[in-house]
Amino acid sequence: MKIAFHKISRRPVEIEHTLNGCHLKGDIKRVSAHEVELNATLNGVTQLYCDRCGKSIDRDINTKLQLKLSDRAVGMDDLDTIEFADGFVDFDYLIDSEINLLSAGYNYCSECKSSSDELDIEY
Ligand SMILES: [Zn+2]
Repeated sequence: MKIAFHKISRRPVEIEHTLNGCHLKGDIKRVSAHEVELNATLNGVTQLYCDRCGKSIDRDINTKLQLKLSDRAVGMDDLDTIEFADGFVDFDYLIDSEINLLSAGYNYCSECKSSSDELDIEY
């Protein structure tokens, strides 16, 4: 799902989008000429793979999002702002990158986690 930047007004509009079993719900509003703000919750389950044995793991996702989005390049000055240079807010991309962020690092299944005391895990 994509929404054109120019269609987003200062009055918050409710948005809802589901991708890969994760449900985004919240509102979006304009804060300045090139900036909009997204306040939402992301709920669902995503599938990860154990870094030790490769077994699939269901990871619950339950997180609050408060994001600044811009339709022009913000450069290195503002790392908190996500750029959508083509003028469209891409919700598939937003959900995808949140899931990637949450599943970054090491993930172990319950069996590997409980035996992790005996392992030499390098962090
Ligand atoms: Zn495992």
